[in-house]
Amino acid sequence: MEARPANRDLLLAVHAASYLAGLEAMSARGGGALFLDTILSRDSWAAVLGATGAVTAAVDHAIEGRGHAFAAVRPPGHHALAARGMGFCLVNNVVVAARHAQRAGRARVLIIDWDVHHGNGTQALVETDHTIRYVSLHQHPWYPGTGAADERGVGNIFNVPRSPGKPPALYVGDLWSAIVAATTDWTPDLLLVSAGFDAMAGDPLGGFTLEPEHYTDLTLRLRGRLPAVPIVGMLEGGYVPERLAEGVAAHLRGLQ
Ligand SMILES: [Zn+2]
Repeated sequence: MEARPANRDLLLAVHAASYLAGLEAMSARGGGALFLDTILSRDSWAAVLGATGAVTAAVDHAIEGRGHAFAAVRPPGHHALAARGMGFCLVNNVVVAARHAQRAGRARVLIIDWDVHHGNGTQALVETDHTIRYVSLHQHPWYPGTGAADERGVGNIFNVPRSPGKPPALYVGDLWSAIVAATTDWTPDLLLVSAGFDAMAGDPLGGFTLEPEHYTDLTLRLRGRLPAVPIVGMLEGGYVPERLAEGVAAHLRGLQ
């Protein structure tokens, strides 16, 4: 399905107006370097509105009972802070999606982030908010440096930092334990997945060892544990295009 671009008002629930105006202006000037590795082109602002339009349309689709959904978006979002882009991320798509869902009456939102990098932006944007729980499996120590297990927010942050090169069953099992901990006395009204695929074996930006079947397995397990909860996945990182495609397809097999 094609989604309409987001209205910028949607982004104001998460980001400073001055920051958004700066992104739009830089893009209109033809682009530039926002922060180290985070580059804008002339089309970046349109891409931001396209991505946030897609994730919010996916949320609407799922919460209206039309089925689980996935948004294949670029740029990714989980490193973006309220007033700063970094790590290829400009706007925090998953938190925009969560705030949109809350406005639509889905009060409690669970965010699961299986990208190989910690979603520092997502954590920073929700860590004082009891209505959102954030579970992240990530390589540590690694970019962006955050995500230690003792970063607990208001008890709503569940970080699973792990070393590279371990068997995939360890990553999947430890992520699952954290998901169980986050949902034992608390049931979300919506599940959002920050679905990066750079935790797959061979990714140049990470050292984890996951294979496509692990994403199908995790997705099916989530559906089994939270049977009444709509699920919306959205693309984060993944730097071997063929592997990224395999990972996304495996996630979708679990959502179907
Ligand atoms: Zn990543």
